[in-house]
Amino acid sequence: MPRVYNFSAGPSMLPEEVLKTAASEMLDYQNTGTSVMEMSHRSNAFIAIAKDAETLLRELMEIPENYKVLFLQGGASTQFAMVPLNLMGRKEGKKADFVNTGMWSKKAIGEAKKFGTVKVVATSEDKNFNYIPTLTKDMFDPQASYAHITTNNTIFGTRYRELPDTGDVPLVADMSSNILSERYDVSKFGVIYAGAQKNIGPAGVTIVIIREDLLGGELDITPTMLGYKVHVENESMYNTPPCYPLYVAKLVFDWLKAKGGVAAMQKVNEEKAAMLYEFLDGSKIFKGTVEKEYRSLMNVPFVLPSDDLNGAFVKQATAAGLINLKGHRSVGGMRASIYNAMPVEGVRALVEFMKEFESKNS
Ligand SMILES: *Cc1c(COP(=O)(O)O)cnc(C)c1O
Repeated sequence: MPRVYNFSAGPSMLPEEVLKTAASEMLDYQNTGTSVMEMSHRSNAFIAIAKDAETLLRELMEIPENYKVLFLQGGASTQFAMVPLNLMGRKEGKKADFVNTGMWSKKAIGEAKKFGTVKVVATSEDKNFNYIPTLTKDMFDPQASYAHITTNNTIFGTRYRELPDTGDVPLVADMSSNILSERYDVSKFGVIYAGAQKNIGPAGVTIVIIREDLLGGELDITPTMLGYKVHVENESMYNTPPCYPLYVAKLVFDWLKAKGGVAAMQKVNEEKAAMLYEFLDGSKIFKGTVEKEYRSLMNVPFVLPSDDLNGAFVKQATAAGLINLKGHRSVGGMRASIYNAMPVEGVRALVEFMKEFESKNS
């Protein structure tokens, strides 16, 4: 069967070149006679892979010297607890500010509440999260230990156009679904975290980028594995790291660098998203669900006028090799996730298919 265009929200497509390299190195990684999966994480070959992964990520995101990069496990969901465990105790009162822009924000809020006092400074729940609330500096508590946002909302398809000004309060961002898809100034953040399975690589590795001065303040109850400092001191090898996902992530970083890096990828992503949104805006039957200003470059939810049509569309698209377009139940309809690895041709094929569907059904 030929490869299909996979619009899954995650785990999602990987670049074909990366899969081919991984396949060619599967049985014998660079004359070691072993697969990366079988190697000791203390071996020179694997340590080189891990070092390269960090160096490449630092280069791609222009991560400043005073930030540490960690490759952990447990997904972004574990970070929902790790962030408060490590940061909540920074200040008297254990307070943190959150912006609620959807289900992932809510889950982060739920975990943080277990370790301190959470204030939701703004929410877009009134319109089923189809926009990003306007944020002004006075909304944030200068005494808070940190402020948390979700830069791209995977389920609802919204994205921050600009970052909030939180003053001296460290900004913590869940960047799971748009890391490496557009340029960010890392120095604007205290912590950035992301699960890999959307824009980086296979599920199983989680990236944490943390400013050095935020290390070492974990609450006394913090389990060893959930403290950032221990992972920094052990270069992400306090315990066995997710070796194979980290290796594939490294291959993805190589691929991204060869493509011209994040700025070049952002241009392609803007082009892909524009193609889809322009069609949606001109369509008589398809409709985007997000306010224009806040539309995501990565996740594009859209609906047809009835559930029958939604169902028919998803079914026929699947048969045409455009898979995983069914939307999340909280929005309904469809969602096309068009991460870095989705080629322009994939989005073009989707738009062509939508045009055809429209002409048959209106
Ligand atoms: C997918 C996703 C998560 C959850 O990631 P896991 O790795 O499954 O824990 C959290 N936040 C955002 C924004 C996501 O897209």
